[in-house]
Amino acid sequence: MENADKINDEIWGHYIDGEFRVQPDDAWLQEYNPGTGKPGYRVKRGCAEDVDQAVAGAQKALPEWRRQKPLDRGRILIRIGVTLRERLVEFSRAENLETGKPMNQTMGDLEAAAQYFEFYGGLAAGVEGDIIDLGNERLCYTRREPYGTVGIILPWNAPLNQAGRSIAPGLAVGNTIVVKPSQLTAVSLLMLAEMAVECGLPPGVLNVVTGSGSEVGTPLVEHPGISKVYFTGSVGVGKKIGHMAAERIIPATLELGGKSPNLVFADSDFNAAVKGVISGFTSNAGQACIAGTRCLVDASIHDEFTQELGRQVAQLSVGPQKDAVIGPMITKGQFDTVKQYFSIAKEENATLLTGGSVAKIAETTGGWFVEPTVYTDVRPDMRIAQEEIFGPVLVVIPFKDEADAVRIANDSDFGLAAGIWTKDLSRAHRVAGLLESGQVFINQYPATSVETPFGGYKKSGIGREKGRIALNDYTQLKTVVTRIEQAE
Ligand code: NAP
Ligand code: MG
Repeated sequence: MENADKINDEIWGHYIDGEFRVQPDDAWLQEYNPGTGKPGYRVKRGCAEDVDQAVAGAQKALPEWRRQKPLDRGRILIRIGVTLRERLVEFSRAENLETGKPMNQTMGDLEAAAQYFEFYGGLAAGVEGDIIDLGNERLCYTRREPYGTVGIILPWNAPLNQAGRSIAPGLAVGNTIVVKPSQLTAVSLLMLAEMAVECGLPPGVLNVVTGSGSEVGTPLVEHPGISKVYFTGSVGVGKKIGHMAAERIIPATLELGGKSPNLVFADSDFNAAVKGVISGFTSNAGQACIAGTRCLVDASIHDEFTQELGRQVAQLSVGPQKDAVIGPMITKGQFDTVKQYFSIAKEENATLLTGGSVAKIAETTGGWFVEPTVYTDVRPDMRIAQEEIFGPVLVVIPFKDEADAVRIANDSDFGLAAGIWTKDLSRAHRVAGLLESGQVFINQYPATSVETPFGGYKKSGIGREKGRIALNDYTQLKTVVTRIEQAE
């Protein structure tokens, strides 16, 4: 294997054992700039052999990384977070090219990515076990130990943000890692892996293999050197990952999709609710697992609410500019999928309140832009009300009373997030308790942060990331019992 640097700023090899791996006869995968539809970076088309090398590198690095004092591991992670913050514009630019996301939004995503390294760096030395009282004749304690080498598979919608969420807690507790990013958005992670080594992360602790799900993702999950897998992506692929992990009897944390409801009660702050429902379904142009894409609104304010909603949504800025609210669909495939749902909505006889087409800016830029779209006269059983569209598309469904609202909200295979808009504190917490959802946001949407545990009910996933609790997910518990000789 020739050990070259990445070929240039446009072409990137895997990052294994602290160096870019490129060979002259490599096969490449093409990324596109979603803001222009034109080809962008190229990344290596990896294969099972590359996964072997990355896992071997990660296993070699494991004993020393595990042995490091948690405080020392934490210091390196904090340095990665701080350095990422210093290079925020450079990383944001790369993600802007890969995702087409307006720069203001990539800056926000990367700020959060930096926070993961700072937060878990700070917590690295705070992992504790318990002492269990078995009486005077035995001493029992528990300790939390890393799994070993873990495999992480990521989607494309918030590349380094999701990478940071999975990588930082994993490293904090002493695992070594092999990551397969989405083939569509791999470069910011390759940049981070190189930067991490410059920040003092030992080579081999964090490795990145690029390529497709079938050619790199599957061999990674099936690799005998991988002790646990973290997958963020769709339900369909999540099921396959779960099957593969079950065959090997290794745990899989699954962060999957959603069709999250936003419940607007008649006693809510009307203007705040309109704004919150809009930010809920337009954030990242709807390409967010927690997008609030079902608006359930009290029938008594339905007409007034939808009128104002439609008026404001029609005014949202769409385009590649820095401060645009709605950026492009991140893949051509996603662009086509959303257009298909516009047709499905027509077939289902939903009423189009606003949007429903490719955005005008798509013609002049060549980018994959769609209009932010709202449908009314939607029944809960329609496809547009049940399926994750992953675009800026909202359905509005009226409810009769609180019980009806909860019933419609829970009538979904998914259970990732839910929003509640009301000024009645008792109602807010009563309803929060009844919703089948991993996250409930009251009078704000979305409302996530690095400190708050995150994960899905139902088909939205298994396991929890973020917050202190993620450290449990990245460690396995060992119980140690000692017999204590008693004095005569
Ligand atoms: P996806 O199609 O499920 O792909 C996710 C990752 O899995 C990609 O890296 C993909 O590789 C890889 N993959 C595909 N087939 C595989 C296989 N057979 N074996 C191993 N790996 C395989 O999801 P996506 O289209 O990238 O992302 C959108 C989905 O992610 C949405 O459903 C969204 O809700 C979900 N999501 C969930 C969360 C959460 O935290 N709950 C966050 C963000 C996104 P390639 O695509 O490169 O081939
Ligand atoms: Mg996909």
